Amino acid sequence: METTNIKAFGTEAANAPLNEMNINRRKATPHDVEIEILFCGVCHSDLHTARSEWGPSMYPCVPGHEIVGRVVNVGGHVSKFKVGDLVGVGCMVDSCRECQYCQEGLEQYCEPGMTGTYNSPDKHLQDTPTFGGYSESIVVDENYVLRIPENLDLAATAPLLCAGITTYSPLHHWKVSQGMKVGIVGIGGLGHMGIKIAKAMGATVVAFTTSESKFAEAKRLGADEVVLSKDAGQMAAYRGKLHFILDAVSAEHDINAYLALLRVDGSLALVGAPEQPLPVAAFSIIMGRKSFAGSMIGGIAETQEMLDFCGEHNITADIEMIDIQNINEAYERLLKGDVKYRFVIDMASLKNKN
Ligand code: NAP
Ligand code: ZN
Ligand code: ZN
Repeated sequence: METTNIKAFGTEAANAPLNEMNINRRKATPHDVEIEILFCGVCHSDLHTARSEWGPSMYPCVPGHEIVGRVVNVGGHVSKFKVGDLVGVGCMVDSCRECQYCQEGLEQYCEPGMTGTYNSPDKHLQDTPTFGGYSESIVVDENYVLRIPENLDLAATAPLLCAGITTYSPLHHWKVSQGMKVGIVGIGGLGHMGIKIAKAMGATVVAFTTSESKFAEAKRLGADEVVLSKDAGQMAAYRGKLHFILDAVSAEHDINAYLALLRVDGSLALVGAPEQPLPVAAFSIIMGRKSFAGSMIGGIAETQEMLDFCGEHNITADIEMIDIQNINEAYERLLKGDVKYRFVIDMASLKNKN
């Protein structure tokens, strides 16, 4: 298979910083779209993966799955996109397309496994992992490419490709709507999108944060009420009050403290993916017939639906733009919960500097 050598930013090992490197991309096949990457969001999953926190990653590892860019080339059989289109790529670039889940638009749960945008075996290039969006360009089958609503700011739209769909999908699945009181836990990249989307779906939104500074601001993001989760008194006031909770915390925390806040038949969906297991006490869920569930990103059609929903409601992420050369520092800040609320890399920084 013919390849092109391009610039990227990635790491060679779990304990090594990210650095500039060169990677090979396949040349566009007849069904592929080649995208010049303009902006790439920084998801906490990028950090978990770069550092092998979920088990050994494949190296070199080039993270990045909140990609927006411009189509610069299309294969001969591509019908959905043309050169010049503004497009997005999220967390997956392929799946088997044949299993029940792929047929139902749940490609993220593909039986043989979806192909992640990074850290998956590349189906086209032997013995190579897929490489993500911390790079100049990417080549993706047109069926895994999304259309960006024209009215949205491009850089602030990048985080929708993971943080947006990861929160939209469970909020939609658990039918969040007007009349429901919904908790959003952990106001980082995912959580702040969760607030905006749950609010746009009509729910009364309660934000739970450990950060005093976010306590003051969560209402600006759309929360109706804010709880400082370290304050037992504030937590107690919500016992048995919430219909649904979306938990987007990236580190160990007490899940039982949140299950206690659900009403009878309420559900807590975990999207945060801490390194260590989270113990759930039997009585946290038997009392009140509660459900403790999980959810992973969303399917391709649902991702487009989410982008269109965000276009209609004028929803984008609150971002802090960085140069790719500052990615290691950004990771350290992410670990401290110190980002309001998503880092987005201006990919021009990769081209402009050597
Ligand atoms: P993030 O921006 O770093 O946000 C995580 C938030 O969790 C922090 O801002 C902080 O919120 C809270 N937090 C962090 N450490 C904490 C601790 N020790 N105790 C309590 N709260 C803490 O991360 P993200 O990009 O939103 O991702 C969140 C998690 O979701 C990550 O584990 C990521 O891998 C995972 N994820 C899962 C999926 C999926 O498909 N399920 C998709 C994307 C990401 P406060 O300051 O408000 O407390
Ligand atoms: Zn992500
Ligand atoms: Zn499949």
